[in-house]
Amino acid sequence: MKALVFSDEPKNAREIITYLRGKMDIDVISAEDKELPEYGAKKVYFYRDGFIDNLSKFLVDYLSKNKYDFIFISSTNTGRELAGILSYRLKMKCMPEIFSFEQGDKTVTKRFFHGGKTVVEEESNFHMFTVSPGICEAEKSDKKSEVENMTLDKSNYKIVNVKSKNTAGTDIRNARVIVSIGRGLGSQENIEKIKPLVEELHAEIAGSRPVCLDYKWLSEDKQVGLSGKKVRPDFYIALGISGQIQHIAGIRGSKTIIAINKDKSAPIFEECDYGIVGDLFTIVPELVEKLK
Ligand SMILES: Cc1cc2nc3c(=O)[nH]c(=O)nc-3n(C[C@H](O)[C@H](O)[C@H](O)COP(=O)(O)OP(=O)(O)OC[C@H]3O[C@@H](n4cnc5c(N)ncnc54)[C@H](O)[C@@H]3O)c2cc1C
Repeated sequence: MKALVFSDEPKNAREIITYLRGKMDIDVISAEDKELPEYGAKKVYFYRDGFIDNLSKFLVDYLSKNKYDFIFISSTNTGRELAGILSYRLKMKCMPEIFSFEQGDKTVTKRFFHGGKTVVEEESNFHMFTVSPGICEAEKSDKKSEVENMTLDKSNYKIVNVKSKNTAGTDIRNARVIVSIGRGLGSQENIEKIKPLVEELHAEIAGSRPVCLDYKWLSEDKQVGLSGKKVRPDFYIALGISGQIQHIAGIRGSKTIIAINKDKSAPIFEECDYGIVGDLFTIVPELVEKLK
């Protein structure tokens, strides 16, 4: 079995290679990344100045000449757009957003459905997939890849200005401990009240969609969930988060989930390892005292 992995985000490429390693031979096409050749792919092709037009042209041509059993495309903005173009141009159906791929006599994949409310596990005869970020934790291999730099045609696009997003701190996908806040926090000013816990645990702060997207108490890159980031910390501490399925979709990879919520019937208590029913503004200071 032979697979091609494409990602414009090398971090996602590392995860997909780690996930598929041992199941099949892997070639990768990726944006440049010093560490990527250390993850066990057979061949790594690096590109520069890749935009949707020259990348799709290259890939259509490459895949017409090189045969792979499976094509895995990282589900980034570029990846999803490319998957659509390749699907049309190569007349190949693409299964979106898988987070599990098992290859035995048959191929069995898993993906979320109904806006994250259900998981569909299905036998698949597809050959092309987009892969949700965070499919596994990337680990280096002792096998080094052969590296080739490829040249793309000149794109019709060019970058005229780069403006960084309003972000702070490290990427929550790499955090070992996350203190995550929900609407139950009440206001942005109240973030100060949970900061002692964040500091005591050397944690990263994250939040639910309303907190990051609607109220903007935190920046967008801190959103956890189906339409946010999938995190895999050792400890995920949910403060005033109800635990709707779209949020849970982002935290299932956590080793231990701890929830504090004043509503004992909140769905988060179905998902957590440890739950405390009560007012977070009473419990958080008590926790901080105990930790000290
Ligand atoms: C297509 C789609 C994608 C989505 N993607 C995401 C996503 O990626 N991430 C995400 O988070 N959501 C996502 N959502 C939204 C999701 O459905 C929920 O609306 C959202 O997760 C709720 O956020 P919350 O838990 O912060 O707020 P709420 O559901 O309002 O929960 C607040 C909780 O705080 C508790 N509380 C209140 N005061 C206190 C207190 N003093 N002490 C303790 N507890 C208290 C309440 O009991 C309540 O359970 C998505 C929705 C859709 C339709």
